[in-house]
Amino acid sequence: MSPISIETYTLGLFQVHSYLVWNHENRHAVLIDSGAQPNEILNFIATQALILEAILYTHTHLDHVEGYGLIKQQHPEIAAYYHSEDDFWLEALPEQAEMFRQPIPEKPVMTDTVSHGEWIKLKTGDFEVRHCPGHTPGGVSYVIEPHVFTGDSLFKNTIGRTDFPRGDHKTLVEAISRQLLSLPDHFMVYSGHGGLTTIGEERLQNPYLR
Ligand SMILES: [Zn+2]
Ligand SMILES: [Zn+2]
Repeated sequence: MSPISIETYTLGLFQVHSYLVWNHENRHAVLIDSGAQPNEILNFIATQALILEAILYTHTHLDHVEGYGLIKQQHPEIAAYYHSEDDFWLEALPEQAEMFRQPIPEKPVMTDTVSHGEWIKLKTGDFEVRHCPGHTPGGVSYVIEPHVFTGDSLFKNTIGRTDFPRGDHKTLVEAISRQLLSLPDHFMVYSGHGGLTTIGEERLQNPYLR
């Protein structure tokens, strides 16, 4: 049996999902994105005596990074991974916050950049990086069999917005088809917002992917 468990937290104004992926054999954990006010996540980490080793960012839109400051306070050595094509979104956090009238969040100190096809080898487990541009240029999905974390690229029955600067619908549909629909049907899809789904369900039902 896989030693991996996943906790889902839905956070902040944007109801973004942060996923805590943890290994119940060695008690190491990885966070996928850091939504606003992640107190509940930090409490779980503390009460379960987990070692949080990294945050893997699917992209650097405001809602996915807001909780970084609080996590960093309690886990000062935390590693953070992202795709560098999202640099301009990372630099634009103050403008993103202003647009949504939110406090300006602490900018994540990214310790590692990821690239397509790379395996991130962590104590929690090994994550494969799949580049899925279109929602943002540096959007990535993280695969740890039989789970895939898709950020705002693929949702249950829909796909990510592409009306932001440097978004592109055709690029996104192509990336999802190539990088995500190539996974087997039974893979569970953990999106940045909305319901849980599977690759098989989306292959059949997602109206944007026909
Ligand atoms: Zn987004
Ligand atoms: Zn989002």
